[in-house]
Amino acid sequence: MTRVLSVTSECAPLVKTGGLADVAGALPGALAGEGVEMRTLLPGYPAVLGALKDGQAIGASEDLFGGPARLIAGRAEGLDLLVLDAPHLYDRAQGIYLGPDGKDWPDNPERFAALCQCAAQLAAGRLGDWRPDLVHCHDWQAGLAPYYLRRDGLRTPSVLTIHNIAFQGLAPMARADDLGIAASDLTADKLEYWGQISALKAGLVHADHLTTVSPTYARDLMTPEFGMGLDGVLRDRRDRLSGILNGIDLSVWSPGTDPHIRPYTTPRGKAVNRSALRAELGLPEASGPLCVVVSRLTGQKGLDLLLDALPVLLGRGGQLALLGSGDPALEAGFAAIEHPDVAVRIGYDEALSHRMIAGGDAVLVPSRFEPCGLTQLYGLRYGTVPLVALTGGLADTVIPATPATMARQVATGLQFHPVTADALANALAHLCDLFEHPKLWSKMQRNAMAHPVDWAPSAAAYAALYETLVAAAR
Ligand code: ADP
Repeated sequence: MTRVLSVTSECAPLVKTGGLADVAGALPGALAGEGVEMRTLLPGYPAVLGALKDGQAIGASEDLFGGPARLIAGRAEGLDLLVLDAPHLYDRAQGIYLGPDGKDWPDNPERFAALCQCAAQLAAGRLGDWRPDLVHCHDWQAGLAPYYLRRDGLRTPSVLTIHNIAFQGLAPMARADDLGIAASDLTADKLEYWGQISALKAGLVHADHLTTVSPTYARDLMTPEFGMGLDGVLRDRRDRLSGILNGIDLSVWSPGTDPHIRPYTTPRGKAVNRSALRAELGLPEASGPLCVVVSRLTGQKGLDLLLDALPVLLGRGGQLALLGSGDPALEAGFAAIEHPDVAVRIGYDEALSHRMIAGGDAVLVPSRFEPCGLTQLYGLRYGTVPLVALTGGLADTVIPATPATMARQVATGLQFHPVTADALANALAHLCDLFEHPKLWSKMQRNAMAHPVDWAPSAAAYAALYETLVAAAR
């Protein structure tokens, strides 16, 4: 058994803002069959502490970044958790990253540095009797953990997974001392990023191995176009960077067993879900495809392009149902659409997201960049044809309808490139063309539903990586 500590700022179903939570929540279960015992270190947000069962304090500090803290071991939602209970850092009514003003909490560097220090203490065997063989860190919030492991002279190997390089965890240099960072490490080849401290860069430089969530995004990240200023660091570490595709949790996302929908196992079962969704959202019956979007509304997701391309879909008798929240300008842009064939729900709603994926004919993911993307995977699983931009994990998971793939009857969706409103409009027109040919369309749906999207191959890849790193550290 390899003991792995997963360090993450969110974990489904306990606390989630995006795909990172889904991955962190699914990995322990997926890895259990691979000889990996994974425990998850999470901040003690109210939702996490409230769900914790059989909690036992295994360590305490009187002053962790300005207040008392305890580490509690316990279980919730089938996960083995280590929860850092530090009310002054995590007991906040608003978002887990953003305050009421919609901006990052000013003490975010300390909030997540505390989590990373705790990870290093666990690796040192100073907290309880469970000591990890390896630490698996997720995104910038866990980026300082590999640094602290090295700083403290520990041999425990670490992996850092980049779920989205757009979030880098920057802090002013003046905070270095408080964060336990040596002045000598504030250099361009270590933690410094354009005059600031970057927690993500700390992880990129010090982790033993780096992964990202799709092979194409791993290549994208080494280019100036997608590397967000860290492409050089990643090129330097290219021998230590690999892409392991995300899977989805089939116990949560399977049309045959989904408690939020009318279950189905063939594309035909979608009709009743589509009618129910239309009724719920106040959409009339229509001749064209019902396209759905479930997404954060940010520039990354390319939904401004959809605002421009939408008339093409509506002109062909199609419909749009969108569920999302985020950037106020995008929220306002979608909310302002007054058209009988468009339904917009601003907000975050897990149950509705299932009904939308089940009831939609197609799911749209026009992202400018996309590390992996999950909603296109849900779409595949549910026979909801994904229409995606040709980038990152979207490129790795959808077999696009082209003359060749249609001739061989292997297409699972549509892809467009470049990521512009014109190209999206063309792809929407293509989607409508295909939708008018029920045989072609249902073949594509069946191909999609048969496409493997489970965790098994990726879990095996992570387990093999852990084993290699643990063996090398012995
Ligand atoms: P990202 O992590 O960049 O937001 P992903 O596609 O990897 O994108 O993951 C997004 C996850 O969040 C998916 O599980 C998606 O269903 C979910 N999600 C996004 N927005 C909403 C929303 N408004 N309501 C419900 N679920 C949402």
